[in-house]
Amino acid sequence: MKRIALITSGGDAPGMNACIRAIVKTCLSKGITPVGYYNGYQGMMDNEFKEMSSSDVKNIIQYGGTILGTARSTEFRTKEGRAKAIHNLRANNIDGFICIGGDGSFKGAQALSEEMSIPVIGIPGTIDNDMYGTDRTIGFDTALNTVVEAVDKIKDTAGSHRRIFLVEVMGRDAGFIALDGALSSGAASVLIPEERSNIDLLAEDLKSQSKRKGNLIVVVAEGDDAGGAADIYNKLLPLMEGYELRYTILGHIQRGGRPSAFDRLMATRMGVFAVELLEKGESDLMVGVKGDDLHTISLQDAVNNTAHAEVSKLNAIKLLKTVT
Ligand code: ATP
Repeated sequence: MKRIALITSGGDAPGMNACIRAIVKTCLSKGITPVGYYNGYQGMMDNEFKEMSSSDVKNIIQYGGTILGTARSTEFRTKEGRAKAIHNLRANNIDGFICIGGDGSFKGAQALSEEMSIPVIGIPGTIDNDMYGTDRTIGFDTALNTVVEAVDKIKDTAGSHRRIFLVEVMGRDAGFIALDGALSSGAASVLIPEERSNIDLLAEDLKSQSKRKGNLIVVVAEGDDAGGAADIYNKLLPLMEGYELRYTILGHIQRGGRPSAFDRLMATRMGVFAVELLEKGESDLMVGVKGDDLHTISLQDAVNNTAHAEVSKLNAIKLLKTVT
């Protein structure tokens, strides 16, 4: 293995820089040239790249975002688009590829592996934690901490005015951020896509909880089946006359900020492991973490499955009901 290409792709996530740094440094320590392509697959098609040195990754471990940039490219989803990228990768003598991203990005990596016969390894980078085959994805822990910090602040004002706040958090079609955010911030309730939401029951529950609590927070996952925080606010209003309701959408602050120590550490370990896997001749794998241990699953399984995370989520809902 002489030249490894790397990209960050899909939504950015805090900790991606720590991962880039680990890949670059591991490559350099093994005499491999790391080649960073800018803006995900778009940069591969546009041939925008840099042979990376130690100085390129100096002082980046503490920053969110990604120094390589990221993009969503529809052209790369076509065979013609990928042919451009393959032409550029071949001209650049690339003989291995590491993709930091989500399941869409891994489908792109699989296509490259198939159409170019190049070994590829995926590293899960998304705040949503919605990847099968890993307990955690890079960025989730930081986003969760941002949510908890924000909810703590909202609780102060909610308590002072005895208001009920709906707080909408990210997570796409998954409720990981919402559920863990609710549990970690002592929220009164949580609405997640994995469980059917019943607004009548929520209203009754909030009325009952408001008798004993000064502040009530309902964390709402953006992908909830009853809608976002604004929709749920409108549905609750007629059911809760006499109560003061407010809603807040946390939005993109969840995607930025300094990565937590957990994300930096996991991203670093995953980056080193990915280079080692390529060096051993492995391909079409995603690096994951189970408990404290790194492991791999096939990219195929990673992109084709979502179901197994459900069990732990529903247990966590029971836990939330116990501790409110
Ligand atoms: P996130 O979870 O943060 O959204 P993601 O990797 O799932 O990350 P996508 O936008 O789905 O984000 O995918 C990133 C890029 O991967 C796309 O813009 C596209 O270039 C490429 N890609 C996605 N799906 C495919 C596919 N089926 N075939 C080839 N390339 C794909």
